[in-house]
Amino acid sequence: MTKRKFNFFPGPATLPLPALEKARDEFLDFEGTGMSVLEISHRSKPWQKVMDDADALVREVMGVPSDYKVMWLGGGASSQFYMVPANLQVPGKPMEYVNTGGWSTKAIKEVELYGETKVIASSKEENFSYIPADVEFSEGAAYAHITSNNTLYGTEWNYEPKVPSDVPLVCDMSSDIMARKANVKDHGVIYAGAQKNLGPAGVTLVIVREDLIDRVPENMPTMQKWSTHVAKGSMFNTPPVFPIYMCKLGLEHLKEMGGVKAMEKLNREKAKILYDVIDSSDGFYKGHARVDSRSLMNVTFTMETPELENKCVDEAIPLDLIGLKGHRSVGGMRASIYNAMPIEGVKKLAKYLTEFKEKNQ
Ligand SMILES: *Cc1c(COP(=O)(O)O)cnc(C)c1O
Repeated sequence: MTKRKFNFFPGPATLPLPALEKARDEFLDFEGTGMSVLEISHRSKPWQKVMDDADALVREVMGVPSDYKVMWLGGGASSQFYMVPANLQVPGKPMEYVNTGGWSTKAIKEVELYGETKVIASSKEENFSYIPADVEFSEGAAYAHITSNNTLYGTEWNYEPKVPSDVPLVCDMSSDIMARKANVKDHGVIYAGAQKNLGPAGVTLVIVREDLIDRVPENMPTMQKWSTHVAKGSMFNTPPVFPIYMCKLGLEHLKEMGGVKAMEKLNREKAKILYDVIDSSDGFYKGHARVDSRSLMNVTFTMETPELENKCVDEAIPLDLIGLKGHRSVGGMRASIYNAMPIEGVKKLAKYLTEFKEKNQ
């Protein structure tokens, strides 16, 4: 087999090797069917079992209460930006958002098409380098929306905002779902594009509390209603079969690794290794995120000049450390260290950064 690189790309991102190997091994003959999982009917029994297993694994790994529905939908997390207001709008009630980065900004843009939208807190004026403190959503909001991890800026919520009990909290968890414990019961809706922490691009996991499913106005297009997809077990139309199948394999691996609890412990260790390098670099590496808002998943930092940053990205490549260039909104570098990034990769990167500093300071 060709050597695997340490892939720090933000998404599509590295996947667990055991999941890739299993997919390879059964690619041409899925469970004795004599067909690839790409070829079997989504109405067949072997496929239904994949859907059932994926559902059960999400419930087990995240501790999803029984009064929540799990959906696998196409269209990416970006489609949920409009499906959330389409399903949860209430005439006369504002939809409240916290703007903590590029993805929140995109979500807010869609909501404005549906009705009154309130941005109740934002860190935009400081280039989204922190999560606003003491956020409190209003009584009478249709729903409250946050983005738990800000992939571009490398910030993450480290507390739960105050939400009135009858206001559902909606969370875009695309880049940190199952990376750390989340209390599902504190949320009305959780959604996540798969390609960061769950599996490949092409499918979005949506978890919705039962009572919210029927809130949708009658005049919504069929595909835009969660109720359509819940009623048909995510198979109202042909589902993205391969991405769902890969997510199932990834979830099996996560469970084997000890689930979210074990993963969170490892993720904290991984992130600390890199933040320690930044903090002990005497300002050679400058962390973008404020310390109290640092992400476990996307470590963002800059250096004195763009030339030095480019050099640092380029010289890492022959060492098999790839995908380190930062997003243009922050510049500098970004190491995305999702669940599937082994700690060996993080240690190798830390060693590289320490040596790069010694040579170039
Ligand atoms: C990547 C990302 C998205 C967009 O996901 P798509 O599946 O590409 O639509 C949305 N929110 C967050 C937090 C992301 O990281």
